[in-house]
Amino acid sequence: MPGFELFGTEERKEVQDVLDSGVLMRYGFEGMRNGHWKAKELEKAITDTFDVKHAQLTSSGTTALSTAMAVMGVGAGDEVIMPTFTFVASFEAIITAGATPVLVDIDETLCLDPKAVEAAITPNTKMVMPVHMCGSMAQMDKIQAICEKHNLLLLEDACQAIGGSFHGQKLGTIGHAGTFSFDFVKTITCGEGGAVLTNDETYYTNADHYSDHGHDHIGNDRGAEDHPFLGYNYRISELHAAVGLGQIKKLAQILSIQKEHNAIVKGALEQVEGVTFRRIPDPEGDNASFLSFFLPTEDLARKAHKALLENGLGGNFYWFDNNWHYIKKWSHLKNATSLFPLNPTLANALKSYDYDQFAQSDAVLGRTISSLINLSWTKEQAHERAEKMAATIKSVLS
Ligand SMILES: *Cc1c(COP(=O)(O)O)cnc(C)c1O
Repeated sequence: MPGFELFGTEERKEVQDVLDSGVLMRYGFEGMRNGHWKAKELEKAITDTFDVKHAQLTSSGTTALSTAMAVMGVGAGDEVIMPTFTFVASFEAIITAGATPVLVDIDETLCLDPKAVEAAITPNTKMVMPVHMCGSMAQMDKIQAICEKHNLLLLEDACQAIGGSFHGQKLGTIGHAGTFSFDFVKTITCGEGGAVLTNDETYYTNADHYSDHGHDHIGNDRGAEDHPFLGYNYRISELHAAVGLGQIKKLAQILSIQKEHNAIVKGALEQVEGVTFRRIPDPEGDNASFLSFFLPTEDLARKAHKALLENGLGGNFYWFDNNWHYIKKWSHLKNATSLFPLNPTLANALKSYDYDQFAQSDAVLGRTISSLINLSWTKEQAHERAEKMAATIKSVLS
């Protein structure tokens, strides 16, 4: 997953271009910037790489989600369906929009269960937001069909699955819009950054304005630009975009190393009786940043995870007990603990929601371990690690 492992001369060169001119901002200052427009160039590289018409860079994956929701018209009173297993940014963006997150079970894909999505739809549902967790994809065909049938917006959070695809279509470009994160631990990084991807011209134009205080970007005088609607400052800086420009050129290499190392670890764990693997709806489209596997029971998964860490095998995650990624530990969300008053519809919904209804998610995630795939391993190190993991888990299962 982490592109930072391949940080080097390419990124330095792009950043140096920006430092040489001193224009750290993506807009204006045309005469001073020596022809360098790193954010614009990165947006072009994104549309080319991911076969999508438009990309709008933002300051983070979280602000990319917020921007996407704003341009799609999600706001007060709207319900957004999201999975129980994701990163906290998913509900943060929904809450920032003033909308209400509706949590829904995952299945053995570790992503939204389409049946649970359909069961959660109410007259207030406006959007479904699948999250392609740990490099692999939700069942986009089924989820897309549900959205079409019920006339719902589809926003893909592809922040963890950059470069993945579903039956040939890049993740993040299948729904009405999608988002990437380029934070420090993602498949490619800008240090901090994000992007909204869409084939919809109006969403894109509005994202361009919204992420820059609503500026219409007409003419050459920023001070004279009009504001057709309210916006925020969710801009990316030229320095961050420059890093991303260095990184995106390495994406193919990153994916190819991940796939190779992932297959090595999987090959070893396949030999361990009792270990099974996450269901991947289109295995060819896995970005391979993690290998996620199941132990027979929650107790054995916890024991196996502990044994892996004790044997020096870091980079193995047991999300079920983790503060960031699973509903079980999101008490600030469940209690609606906010520094400022939330809108009453949202506050009431959060406090009255039944958070104990996710036995299906518990049953899946309680048995899941995800193993991070590093780029910096040699092939020998990958094999060595894989064998050590297999032996450790075998000893727990026997
Ligand atoms: C990282 C991440 C985000 C948010 O990205 P930031 O750039 O850190 O704000 C959103 N969703 C998921 C699933 C993520 O993993």
